[in-house]
Amino acid sequence: AKNNGGGRCTWFDPIMDQLADADAKLAADLRQAITRDELFLLYQPIVELPHGRLAGVEALVRWRHPEQGLVSPATFIPLAERNGYIIELGRWILREAVRQATEWEQTYGENAPEKVSVNISARQLREPGFVEEVAELLRTSGINPHRLVAEVTETAVLGTGEAIEAVRDLHALGLRIALDDFGTGQSSLSLLVDCPVKVLKVDKSFVDGVTGSSAQAVIVDGLIGITEGLQIEAVAEGVETADQAYRLHKMGYRLAQGFHFARPMAGSDIELLLTVPDHQ
Ligand code: C2E
Ligand code: CA
Ligand code: CA
Ligand code: CA
Repeated sequence: AKNNGGGRCTWFDPIMDQLADADAKLAADLRQAITRDELFLLYQPIVELPHGRLAGVEALVRWRHPEQGLVSPATFIPLAERNGYIIELGRWILREAVRQATEWEQTYGENAPEKVSVNISARQLREPGFVEEVAELLRTSGINPHRLVAEVTETAVLGTGEAIEAVRDLHALGLRIALDDFGTGQSSLSLLVDCPVKVLKVDKSFVDGVTGSSAQAVIVDGLIGITEGLQIEAVAEGVETADQAYRLHKMGYRLAQGFHFARPMAGSDIELLLTVPDHQ
């Protein structure tokens, strides 16, 4: 079925029309991606500063398209959000991340990545029955809910009362809530009061400026004070250089994520960083 993007005025513009067609084709392909086994998860280490010990991982979805090769989640996640397919996609992502987390725990015990973070989209949060589904997954997998981190964006949570309620319910199930891309959305510090946030992920756009004396550096330094006072963990995102890691550590950051430490990698490559405990 051709998706005309309900309500978008594209008929008068041939270029827009072509883009819409490409979108519709990609959207149709995406609906087959799960059954055709084209999706997989990579895991990016979240590490302790300054030494870089593995503290957890963030699951990041990838799509190997049969003709186009790797398609970025920055392209297909928003597409899936628009056409509602994110519900099925998000369900697959969560299940796969939990499967991997429990498998690691079985093999590596206490040396398994302690926390596994999964990105939850706004649409998923608002879907009736989402929290019940998570509860069911916790039951069937037997995973300790404290190991599971739900990454949500400010924009997703600020949108509606339903979303805030879902976040509270996830927290009640024992999940840790992380506020993703902090500083880029319609930021509101009151969210830190209204929502049971346990982790603040300071966006790369702020971290980028941390070695200078820019406003970003001042904000990054200020945020660590706020999180400490509220007993929230802060994770600096997008750390690309040793200088940035050093500055963040000096400011008091304990956790970081970024290419300087590790890129997103296959689950089997994460295992190269783990050791099997000898007392089993
Ligand atoms: P995000 O949740 O903020 O994820 C972090 C993104 O930053 C990832 O891009 C990661 O590869 C990238 N990154 C990490 N360290 C660095 C760095 O040092 N430098 C630079 N330049 N980039 C870094 P990725 O995997 O392409 O994902 C992009 C976005 O797509 C994510 O941003 C998230 O919003 C969305 N996404 C990815 N996977 C999922 C998923 O499983 N579910 C949902 N709902 N969204 C996802
Ligand atoms: Ca994230
Ligand atoms: Ca982020
Ligand atoms: Ca400080």
